[in-house]
Amino acid sequence: MIPRKFEYFAPTTVSEAVSLLRKYRDSAKILSGGMSLIPMMKLRVLSPQVIIDINNIKSLNYIKDGGKTVRIGALVRHADIEHSPIIKEKFPMMADAAPHIADMQVRNLGTFLGALAHADPAADWPASALALDAELVAQGTAKRVIKATKFFKGPFETALKPTEMLVEAVLPVPRGEKVGQAYLKFERKAGDYAIVGVASLLTLNRENVIQKAAIALTAVNPFPFRATDAEELLVGQKPSKDLIEQAAKAAAAMADPSSDLRGSAEYKREMAKVFTRRSLNRALERAGVAV
Ligand SMILES: Cc1cc2nc3c(=O)[nH]c(=O)nc-3n(C[C@H](O)[C@H](O)[C@H](O)COP(=O)(O)OP(=O)(O)OC[C@H]3O[C@@H](n4cnc5c(N)ncnc54)[C@H](O)[C@@H]3O)c2cc1C
Repeated sequence: MIPRKFEYFAPTTVSEAVSLLRKYRDSAKILSGGMSLIPMMKLRVLSPQVIIDINNIKSLNYIKDGGKTVRIGALVRHADIEHSPIIKEKFPMMADAAPHIADMQVRNLGTFLGALAHADPAADWPASALALDAELVAQGTAKRVIKATKFFKGPFETALKPTEMLVEAVLPVPRGEKVGQAYLKFERKAGDYAIVGVASLLTLNRENVIQKAAIALTAVNPFPFRATDAEELLVGQKPSKDLIEQAAKAAAAMADPSSDLRGSAEYKREMAKVFTRRSLNRALERAGVAV
């Protein structure tokens, strides 16, 4: 449980951190909360030669409400999100997710962007980032914006280059006559990774016709995904019990879970259906629409 030797840097600016990334490339790793990196280093799953600790880059610690968008910096912890009135008001699905991530100790250190960069296929935050159409800002030699929908490439694999770090996420605030969103996580015990997690966002017009549907699932595929088949079924329709059930089935059909200690593939697919249905129903309830 002792990591291999490494060189340690604690830059105070993003440009300093990026220069170090450019210098050491694949042999370097960014450290933000350390809640995944340190355990992996202790287990020697990862043995970076260089650690670039970004915790002294104070300018990266913010949740900024710009009206149409909210920007979250790279040092924002899970707990900051959990307690943010801005998040509670604008992104209830994230307020749902935060208290169910790990335990208080992990939430006090682990960061939102660190979790996205880590890209654990069972992580909670990627579902919200996908459903909210987040844009992730990467800083390398230049700044680059990566849509969340293009970010997750495989288990622990993202579109980030080894010479880039994530500096912020830009979250568009959902707009519409009626808006409802929810994240539901099904876990074996409190603080565990999800058996399945479903983030749903629905916007409806005055006549209750669904204008936009975004549904993202985590833990039931090699990487989190948008259930586009389910979304297509919903858009242009008025919600009904039957429609929600069809959408939940369509979402589950897109899942490709593997059997493990948390359950068989068949069980997880069934739970993907159940939790998509519940997540959509909660989103509708929050939009003030009864089915
Ligand atoms: C006991 C325990 C329980 C957990 N339970 C859950 C859970 O229920 N749900 C859940 O979703 N997660 C859970 N986690 C995982 C954890 O919360 C996240 O994976 C973690 O917080 C990642 O963020 P971090 O800031 O700690 O990243 P770190 O551990 O510092 O880094 C993780 C990886 O991301 C890279 N990285 C970090 N920040 C950046 C950046 N800004 N730019 C580029 N790359 C970066 C690092 O180089 C590293 O490869 C759990 C962890 C523990 C220890």
